[in-house]
Amino acid sequence: MENIDEKFMREALGEAAAGFMSGEVPIGAVAVHDGEIVARGHNERRTRKDITAHAEMMCLRDLSPSLEKLDLTGYTIYSTLEPCAMCAGAMIHYRVNRVVFGAKDKKLGAAGSAYDFLHDAGIAVVKGVLDKDCREILYKFFKKELGHESKMWEDIELE
Ligand SMILES: [Zn+2]
Repeated sequence: MENIDEKFMREALGEAAAGFMSGEVPIGAVAVHDGEIVARGHNERRTRKDITAHAEMMCLRDLSPSLEKLDLTGYTIYSTLEPCAMCAGAMIHYRVNRVVFGAKDKKLGAAGSAYDFLHDAGIAVVKGVLDKDCREILYKFFKKELGHESKMWEDIELE
């Protein structure tokens, strides 16, 4: 049976798939509070012509207007790809408690790969949840985009 982290990672993968459909690098994120998804986002860099429009940022921006306080204590952010330094920084500012991600990003990941900001800030991290699915959609995207297997994502791999 699927555990709760896998269940929510499937939802983040659904967001990644929505990004794929609109021509974005397929990375998705959801925010969970009290066992419910309260916000969603996927990478929209191309659509918005905004280099900061990462899945996690879009998810936080989706959630922000509904918050009384800009404090995500008790929330978990799920992302199909290891958060970068910018997204990890935003999560630290929001006081997110827990981050769950799928694929590792050895080049830019800030949850233990290239940097370790989340751990340094005392945020609990679970890595590698459905990592194969999270990587596969990226590979599929670059194969479709480039017509061949991209080397660009060779840094995203299993433990
Ligand atoms: Zn990011």
